[in-house]
Amino acid sequence: MAVRRLWFDVGWLFAMGAELGSGRRAYCTSQAFAEVLRLPSKQLTKLVFPLQELERHFVPGSRPDLHLKIFNPSLDDIARAESVFTASSRNRIEYLSSAVRLDHAPDLRRPEVCFIGRSNVGKSSLIKALFSLAPEVEVRVSKKPGHTKKMNFFKVGKYFTLVDMPGYGYRAPEDFVDMVETYLKERKNLMRTFLLVDSVVGIQKTDNIAIEMCEEFALPYVMVLTKIDKSSKGHLLKQVLQIQKFVDTKTQGCFPQLFPVSAVTYSGIHLLRCFIANITGNLKTNGFQFS
Ligand code: GDP
Repeated sequence: MAVRRLWFDVGWLFAMGAELGSGRRAYCTSQAFAEVLRLPSKQLTKLVFPLQELERHFVPGSRPDLHLKIFNPSLDDIARAESVFTASSRNRIEYLSSAVRLDHAPDLRRPEVCFIGRSNVGKSSLIKALFSLAPEVEVRVSKKPGHTKKMNFFKVGKYFTLVDMPGYGYRAPEDFVDMVETYLKERKNLMRTFLLVDSVVGIQKTDNIAIEMCEEFALPYVMVLTKIDKSSKGHLLKQVLQIQKFVDTKTQGCFPQLFPVSAVTYSGIHLLRCFIANITGNLKTNGFQFS
């Protein structure tokens, strides 16, 4: 533990960024991200920009539209976003409370993001990965599905609150729809809903519960594809294209870019942190490129 603490207490340092075409640049970053920047360019792309990495596997000439570059922050922006997620005495990241009803939820002025998905989709593991720079935060990852029965609130310093919503589908809490629907409909400081889809199996019937709620309440939401380390490149590409098509043709409020992640390899985790820091108003970036 002492070694781990030391790792996180080392603080900030300047690290030379990896060579990425534009030449070497200096990034102010945490030691953890400095390690990432030292990776060879192909490995770095796979870890930080997994969707772009998939692009290499398209059949030449087919050019499916994956909206790859809508949110395309620089490594500098991503490095800066890491500070939002790094616990320190001045940036306390901690579990706040749990609630079964909205009126039991903490009354907060800070912006909020929530994570929602089927039981076993990998929600707790993803939240744990997002909080890996705050190792004291306890996010319980269960071996049995259906673990999260309440809404769990986590404070991320003065920046925002992250809410782990109960899983739906198998062993969902009885009052799941009431609890979640009321939260999604009425939570005033909710900035973005992250809807998790298991990249191994794609969108399932039960996912429609959450998709329909987001669409009905006209919420801005984002699809996050979990467990991308589990599939072959071919299978993953097929799932990603199918889900992308669904987002393009069947949704209104869903952000057009998918966020593939792995809580095991950490692929996509840094980019997702940067996106969250940005949409909660805590990081200015020129990373959004709408054409
Ligand atoms: P939750 O019910 O949605 O909170 O899901 P969990 O986070 O508890 O994960 C369910 C199962 O999937 C657990 O056995 C995890 O170890 C596994 N899992 C979660 N995320 C990943 C991932 O990114 N890759 C792999 N290979 N397994 C994962």
